[in-house]
Amino acid sequence: MNAESALATESFDSEPITPESIAELRARVTGPVFARGDQGAAAEVACFNRSRTQDPDVVVGATNDADVVAAVRFAVQNRLLVRIQATGHGSGKTPAGGMMITTRRMDTLQLDPRTRLATIGAGVQWQRVVETAAAFELAPIVGSSVTVGAVGYTLGGGLGPLARSHGFSSDWVRGFRVVTAAGDIITADAHSNPDLFWALRGGKGGFGVVTEMTIELAPMPALYVGGLLFEGAKTSGPRCAVGPLGCRMRRPASRHPLRCCACRRAATHPKPTHPTPTAQRRRNMRAPCST
Ligand SMILES: Cc1cc2nc3c(=O)[nH]c(=O)nc-3n(C[C@H](O)[C@H](O)[C@H](O)COP(=O)(O)OP(=O)(O)OC[C@H]3O[C@@H](n4cnc5c(N)ncnc54)[C@H](O)[C@@H]3O)c2cc1C
Repeated sequence: MNAESALATESFDSEPITPESIAELRARVTGPVFARGDQGAAAEVACFNRSRTQDPDVVVGATNDADVVAAVRFAVQNRLLVRIQATGHGSGKTPAGGMMITTRRMDTLQLDPRTRLATIGAGVQWQRVVETAAAFELAPIVGSSVTVGAVGYTLGGGLGPLARSHGFSSDWVRGFRVVTAAGDIITADAHSNPDLFWALRGGKGGFGVVTEMTIELAPMPALYVGGLLFEGAKTSGPRCAVGPLGCRMRRPASRHPLRCCACRRAATHPKPTHPTPTAQRRRNMRAPCST
Protein backbone atom coordinates (compact mmCIF):
# COMPACT_ATOMS: atom_id res chain seq x y z
CA MET A 1 0.00 0.00 0.00
CA ASN A 2 1.36 3.47 -0.78
CA ALA A 3 0.45 6.84 0.72
CA GLU A 4 -1.95 7.71 -2.11
CA SER A 5 -4.03 4.64 -1.48
CA ALA A 6 -4.90 5.64 2.09
CA LEU A 7 -8.13 7.55 2.68
CA ALA A 8 -7.92 11.01 4.22
CA THR A 9 -9.56 11.10 7.63
CA GLU A 10 -8.19 14.48 8.74
CA SER A 11 -10.15 17.52 7.68
CA PHE A 12 -9.01 19.64 4.77
CA ASP A 13 -10.55 22.31 2.52
CA SER A 14 -13.10 20.64 0.32
CA GLU A 15 -14.56 21.82 -2.95
CA PRO A 16 -18.16 23.14 -2.82
CA ILE A 17 -20.51 20.39 -3.98
CA THR A 18 -22.94 21.38 -6.69
CA PRO A 19 -26.40 19.82 -7.31
CA GLU A 20 -25.08 18.76 -10.76
CA SER A 21 -22.23 16.77 -9.26
CA ILE A 22 -24.64 15.10 -6.81
CA ALA A 23 -26.89 14.17 -9.74
CA GLU A 24 -23.88 12.64 -11.53
CA LEU A 25 -23.00 10.63 -8.46
CA ARG A 26 -26.60 9.39 -8.15
CA ALA A 27 -26.44 8.15 -11.73
CA ARG A 28 -23.36 6.06 -10.91
CA VAL A 29 -24.57 4.56 -7.61
CA THR A 30 -27.21 1.86 -7.07
CA GLY A 31 -27.89 2.77 -3.42
CA PRO A 32 -29.38 6.06 -2.19
CA VAL A 33 -27.36 9.29 -2.28
CA PHE A 34 -28.26 12.14 0.08
CA ALA A 35 -27.06 15.72 -0.02
CA ARG A 36 -27.10 17.73 3.22
CA GLY A 37 -30.71 18.50 4.23
CA ASP A 38 -32.28 15.88 1.95
CA GLN A 39 -35.20 13.96 3.37
CA GLY A 40 -33.91 10.74 4.93
CA ALA A 41 -30.34 12.02 5.32
CA ALA A 42 -30.58 12.36 9.12
CA ALA A 43 -31.94 8.81 9.49
CA GLU A 44 -29.22 7.45 7.20
CA VAL A 45 -26.39 8.88 9.32
CA ALA A 46 -28.00 8.31 12.75
CA CYS A 47 -25.60 6.44 15.00
CA PHE A 48 -25.70 4.27 18.13
CA ASN A 49 -25.01 7.24 20.41
CA ARG A 50 -28.12 9.36 19.83
CA SER A 51 -26.53 12.40 21.48
CA ARG A 52 -24.13 12.65 18.51
CA THR A 53 -25.25 14.53 15.45
CA GLN A 54 -23.50 13.92 12.17
CA ASP A 55 -23.79 16.35 9.32
CA PRO A 56 -21.87 15.25 6.23
CA ASP A 57 -22.17 17.16 2.93
CA VAL A 58 -23.04 13.97 1.08
CA VAL A 59 -24.00 10.43 2.09
CA VAL A 60 -23.78 7.33 -0.07
CA GLY A 61 -25.78 4.30 1.08
CA ALA A 62 -23.51 1.73 -0.58
CA THR A 63 -25.05 -1.57 -1.69
CA ASN A 64 -21.99 -3.15 -3.37
CA ASP A 65 -18.31 -2.66 -4.23
CA ALA A 66 -19.11 -0.53 -7.30
CA ASP A 67 -21.05 1.96 -5.13
CA VAL A 68 -18.08 2.25 -2.79
CA VAL A 69 -15.72 2.81 -5.73
CA ALA A 70 -17.98 5.57 -7.12
CA ALA A 71 -18.28 7.20 -3.70
CA VAL A 72 -14.52 7.13 -3.04
CA ARG A 73 -13.69 8.55 -6.49
CA PHE A 74 -16.25 11.33 -5.98
CA ALA A 75 -14.77 12.13 -2.57
CA VAL A 76 -11.22 12.26 -3.94
CA GLN A 77 -12.31 14.41 -6.90
CA ASN A 78 -14.09 16.88 -4.60
CA ARG A 79 -11.46 16.75 -1.82
CA LEU A 80 -13.97 15.44 0.72
CA LEU A 81 -13.04 13.82 3.99
CA VAL A 82 -14.43 10.25 4.07
CA ARG A 83 -16.14 8.56 6.99
CA ILE A 84 -17.47 5.02 6.96
CA GLN A 85 -20.38 3.89 9.07
CA ALA A 86 -21.89 0.45 9.53
CA THR A 87 -23.78 0.73 12.83
CA GLY A 88 -22.40 3.95 14.29
CA HIS A 89 -21.28 2.15 17.46
CA GLY A 90 -17.88 3.75 17.11
CA SER A 91 -18.81 7.29 16.16
CA GLY A 92 -16.98 9.70 18.38
CA LYS A 93 -16.47 13.40 17.79
CA THR A 94 -17.15 13.78 14.09
CA PRO A 95 -16.03 16.74 11.99
CA ALA A 96 -18.72 18.54 10.00
CA GLY A 97 -19.01 18.09 6.26
CA GLY A 98 -17.28 15.58 4.05
CA MET A 99 -18.66 12.32 2.74
CA MET A 100 -20.14 9.45 4.70
CA ILE A 101 -20.35 6.00 3.18
CA THR A 102 -22.90 3.85 5.01
CA THR A 103 -22.42 0.11 4.59
CA ARG A 104 -25.45 -1.44 6.31
CA ARG A 105 -26.92 -2.57 2.97
CA MET A 106 -23.80 -4.63 2.22
CA ASP A 107 -25.14 -7.51 4.24
CA THR A 108 -23.93 -10.66 2.49
CA LEU A 109 -22.84 -13.59 4.65
CA GLN A 110 -21.40 -16.87 3.35
CA LEU A 111 -20.32 -19.61 5.71
CA ASP A 112 -18.58 -22.87 4.84
CA PRO A 113 -18.67 -25.27 7.81
CA ARG A 114 -16.15 -27.58 6.10
CA THR A 115 -13.37 -24.98 5.91
CA ARG A 116 -14.72 -23.06 8.94
CA LEU A 117 -14.52 -19.82 6.95
CA ALA A 118 -17.13 -17.05 6.95
CA THR A 119 -17.13 -14.22 4.41
CA ILE A 120 -18.87 -11.22 5.89
CA GLY A 121 -20.12 -8.08 4.11
CA ALA A 122 -19.17 -4.65 5.47
CA GLY A 123 -22.63 -4.02 6.92
CA VAL A 124 -23.15 -7.30 8.79
CA GLN A 125 -23.56 -7.21 12.56
CA TRP A 126 -22.07 -9.99 14.71
CA GLN A 127 -25.50 -11.29 15.78
CA ARG A 128 -26.14 -12.84 12.35
CA VAL A 129 -22.71 -14.44 12.19
CA VAL A 130 -23.07 -15.87 15.71
CA GLU A 131 -26.51 -17.34 14.95
CA THR A 132 -25.52 -18.79 11.57
CA ALA A 133 -22.29 -20.31 12.89
CA ALA A 134 -23.95 -21.78 16.01
CA ALA A 135 -25.98 -24.14 13.82
CA PHE A 136 -22.65 -25.83 12.90
CA GLU A 137 -21.20 -25.72 16.46
CA LEU A 138 -18.88 -22.93 15.32
CA ALA A 139 -18.44 -19.38 16.58
CA PRO A 140 -16.77 -16.15 15.51
CA ILE A 141 -14.54 -14.61 18.16
CA VAL A 142 -16.68 -11.59 19.00
CA GLY A 143 -16.95 -8.78 21.51
CA SER A 144 -19.44 -8.09 24.26
CA SER A 145 -22.13 -6.66 21.97
CA VAL A 146 -23.50 -8.56 18.98
CA THR A 147 -25.12 -5.44 17.50
CA VAL A 148 -21.63 -4.06 16.76
CA GLY A 149 -20.54 -4.26 13.12
CA ALA A 150 -18.28 -7.27 12.44
CA VAL A 151 -15.89 -5.37 10.15
CA GLY A 152 -15.62 -2.12 12.17
CA TYR A 153 -15.05 -4.12 15.37
CA THR A 154 -12.36 -6.33 13.83
CA LEU A 155 -10.50 -3.40 12.25
CA GLY A 156 -9.84 -2.13 15.79
CA GLY A 157 -8.35 -5.48 16.81
CA GLY A 158 -11.40 -6.70 18.71
CA LEU A 159 -10.92 -7.67 22.33
CA GLY A 160 -13.90 -9.67 23.55
CA PRO A 161 -14.92 -12.01 26.37
CA LEU A 162 -13.17 -14.97 24.66
CA ALA A 163 -9.84 -13.12 24.36
CA ARG A 164 -8.15 -15.11 27.14
CA SER A 165 -8.70 -18.42 25.38
CA HIS A 166 -8.86 -17.32 21.72
CA GLY A 167 -6.93 -14.04 21.45
CA PHE A 168 -7.87 -10.93 19.51
CA SER A 169 -10.67 -11.21 16.94
CA SER A 170 -8.31 -9.83 14.30
CA ASP A 171 -6.10 -12.94 14.76
CA TRP A 172 -8.91 -14.90 13.07
CA VAL A 173 -9.08 -12.78 9.89
CA ARG A 174 -7.95 -14.55 6.74
CA GLY A 175 -8.47 -11.71 4.26
CA PHE A 176 -10.16 -8.43 3.35
CA ARG A 177 -11.50 -6.95 0.14
CA VAL A 178 -10.72 -3.25 0.14
CA VAL A 179 -11.50 -0.20 -1.99
CA THR A 180 -8.45 2.06 -1.88
CA ALA A 181 -8.40 5.84 -2.22
CA ALA A 182 -7.39 5.35 -5.85
CA GLY A 183 -10.75 3.60 -6.35
CA ASP A 184 -9.17 0.18 -6.91
CA ILE A 185 -10.64 -3.00 -5.48
CA ILE A 186 -7.86 -5.08 -3.97
CA THR A 187 -7.44 -8.12 -1.75
CA ALA A 188 -5.40 -7.90 1.43
CA ASP A 189 -4.36 -11.22 2.92
CA ALA A 190 -1.21 -13.09 3.90
CA HIS A 191 -0.11 -13.29 0.22
CA SER A 192 -1.59 -10.20 -1.48
CA ASN A 193 -0.77 -6.79 -0.02
CA PRO A 194 0.44 -8.29 3.27
CA ASP A 195 1.42 -4.89 4.69
CA LEU A 196 -2.13 -3.60 4.25
CA PHE A 197 -3.45 -6.87 5.73
CA TRP A 198 -1.23 -6.28 8.76
CA ALA A 199 -2.41 -2.65 9.12
CA LEU A 200 -6.09 -3.51 8.86
CA ARG A 201 -5.91 -6.01 11.72
CA GLY A 202 -5.95 -3.40 14.49
CA GLY A 203 -5.05 -0.19 12.64
CA LYS A 204 -8.71 0.89 12.43
CA GLY A 205 -9.71 3.49 9.82
CA GLY A 206 -7.94 5.37 7.06
CA PHE A 207 -6.57 2.49 5.00
CA GLY A 208 -9.48 2.20 2.59
CA VAL A 209 -13.05 0.93 2.67
CA VAL A 210 -13.34 -2.74 3.55
CA THR A 211 -16.21 -4.21 1.56
CA GLU A 212 -15.83 -7.79 2.73
CA MET A 213 -13.86 -9.75 5.34
CA THR A 214 -13.14 -13.48 5.59
CA ILE A 215 -12.63 -14.93 9.05
CA GLU A 216 -11.94 -18.35 10.45
CA LEU A 217 -14.55 -19.62 12.91
CA ALA A 218 -13.63 -21.45 16.08
CA PRO A 219 -15.11 -24.84 16.97
CA MET A 220 -17.56 -24.08 19.80
CA PRO A 221 -19.88 -27.00 20.58
CA ALA A 222 -20.89 -25.45 23.90
CA LEU A 223 -20.36 -22.18 25.70
CA TYR A 224 -21.14 -21.58 29.35
CA VAL A 225 -21.68 -17.97 30.33
CA GLY A 226 -23.26 -16.30 33.28
CA GLY A 227 -23.23 -13.51 35.77
CA LEU A 228 -24.23 -12.94 39.36
CA LEU A 229 -27.13 -10.59 39.89
CA PHE A 230 -28.63 -9.56 43.20
CA GLU A 231 -32.23 -8.49 43.40
CA GLY A 232 -32.20 -4.78 44.19
CA ALA A 233 -35.18 -5.00 46.57
CA LYS A 234 -33.48 -7.62 48.73
CA THR A 235 -30.26 -5.73 49.23
CA SER A 236 -29.67 -2.87 51.59
CA GLY A 237 -27.01 -0.63 50.15
CA PRO A 238 -24.18 -1.61 47.84
CA ARG A 239 -22.37 -4.91 48.20
CA CYS A 240 -18.69 -5.52 48.34
CA ALA A 241 -17.07 -6.73 45.11
CA VAL A 242 -14.04 -8.48 46.66
CA GLY A 243 -15.25 -9.96 49.92
CA PRO A 244 -17.25 -13.14 50.41
CA LEU A 245 -20.18 -13.11 47.98
CA GLY A 246 -23.03 -11.02 49.21
CA CYS A 247 -21.02 -9.34 51.94
CA ARG A 248 -22.72 -6.05 52.79
CA MET A 249 -20.55 -3.02 52.35
CA ARG A 250 -20.21 -1.69 55.86
CA ARG A 251 -17.85 1.16 55.13
CA PRO A 252 -16.90 1.85 51.48
CA ALA A 253 -13.16 2.17 51.08
CA SER A 254 -12.45 5.75 50.00
CA ARG A 255 -10.44 4.97 46.86
CA HIS A 256 -12.27 1.73 46.04
CA PRO A 257 -16.00 2.48 46.12
CA LEU A 258 -16.89 -1.11 45.24
CA ARG A 259 -14.95 -2.66 48.14
CA CYS A 260 -15.63 -2.28 51.81
CA CYS A 261 -12.69 -1.46 54.08
CA ALA A 262 -12.74 -4.78 55.90
CA CYS A 263 -12.76 -6.89 52.73
CA ARG A 264 -10.09 -4.79 51.08
CA ARG A 265 -7.85 -5.29 54.09
CA ALA A 266 -8.62 -8.98 54.15
CA ALA A 267 -7.93 -9.34 50.44
CA THR A 268 -4.75 -7.31 50.23
CA HIS A 269 -3.27 -7.64 53.74
CA PRO A 270 -3.97 -11.03 55.30
CA LYS A 271 -3.70 -10.78 59.08
CA PRO A 272 -0.19 -11.85 60.18
CA THR A 273 0.07 -14.70 62.66
CA HIS A 274 2.84 -12.95 64.60
CA PRO A 275 3.55 -9.20 64.96
CA THR A 276 5.34 -7.70 61.97
CA PRO A 277 8.36 -5.46 62.66
CA THR A 278 6.20 -2.40 61.87
CA ALA A 279 3.46 -3.49 64.26
CA GLN A 280 6.08 -4.16 66.94
CA ARG A 281 7.64 -0.69 66.41
CA ARG A 282 4.19 0.96 66.69
CA ARG A 283 3.53 -0.92 69.92
CA ASN A 284 6.92 0.18 71.34
CA MET A 285 6.18 3.81 70.44
CA ARG A 286 2.85 3.60 72.29
CA ALA A 287 4.53 2.15 75.41
CA PRO A 288 4.63 4.66 78.30
CA CYS A 289 7.99 6.30 78.95
CA SER A 290 9.56 4.89 82.07
CA THR A 291 11.62 7.96 83.00
C1 LIG B 1 -22.04 -1.48 23.31
C2 LIG B 1 -20.64 -1.64 22.75
C3 LIG B 1 -19.90 -2.77 23.09
C4 LIG B 1 -18.61 -2.94 22.58
N1 LIG B 1 -17.88 -4.05 22.94
C5 LIG B 1 -16.61 -4.20 22.48
C6 LIG B 1 -15.82 -5.34 22.86
O1 LIG B 1 -16.25 -6.20 23.62
N2 LIG B 1 -14.57 -5.43 22.35
C7 LIG B 1 -14.04 -4.48 21.49
O2 LIG B 1 -12.90 -4.64 21.05
N3 LIG B 1 -14.77 -3.40 21.14
C8 LIG B 1 -16.03 -3.22 21.62
N4 LIG B 1 -16.73 -2.11 21.27
C9 LIG B 1 -16.12 -1.10 20.42
C10 LIG B 1 -16.46 -1.40 18.96
O3 LIG B 1 -15.72 -2.51 18.51
C11 LIG B 1 -16.08 -0.18 18.09
O4 LIG B 1 -16.89 0.89 18.50
C12 LIG B 1 -16.25 -0.46 16.63
O5 LIG B 1 -15.62 0.58 15.92
C13 LIG B 1 -17.68 -0.52 16.20
O6 LIG B 1 -17.74 -0.83 14.84
P1 LIG B 1 -19.07 -0.52 13.99
O7 LIG B 1 -18.78 -0.81 12.57
O8 LIG B 1 -20.23 -1.18 14.66
O9 LIG B 1 -19.22 1.05 14.24
P2 LIG B 1 -19.19 2.26 13.20
O10 LIG B 1 -19.37 3.48 14.04
O11 LIG B 1 -20.15 2.05 12.11
O12 LIG B 1 -17.72 2.23 12.62
C14 LIG B 1 -16.67 2.63 13.47
C15 LIG B 1 -15.42 2.86 12.67
O13 LIG B 1 -14.96 1.63 12.13
C16 LIG B 1 -14.36 1.87 10.85
N5 LIG B 1 -15.11 1.11 9.85
C17 LIG B 1 -16.35 0.55 9.98
N6 LIG B 1 -16.66 -0.13 8.86
C18 LIG B 1 -15.62 0.02 8.00
C19 LIG B 1 -15.34 -0.45 6.70
N7 LIG B 1 -16.21 -1.20 6.03
N8 LIG B 1 -14.15 -0.12 6.13
C20 LIG B 1 -13.25 0.64 6.79
N9 LIG B 1 -13.46 1.12 8.03
C21 LIG B 1 -14.63 0.81 8.64
C22 LIG B 1 -14.43 3.35 10.58
O14 LIG B 1 -13.25 3.96 11.04
C23 LIG B 1 -15.58 3.78 11.46
O15 LIG B 1 -15.49 5.12 11.85
C24 LIG B 1 -18.04 -1.93 21.75
C25 LIG B 1 -18.77 -0.78 21.43
C26 LIG B 1 -20.06 -0.63 21.93
C27 LIG B 1 -20.81 0.62 21.58
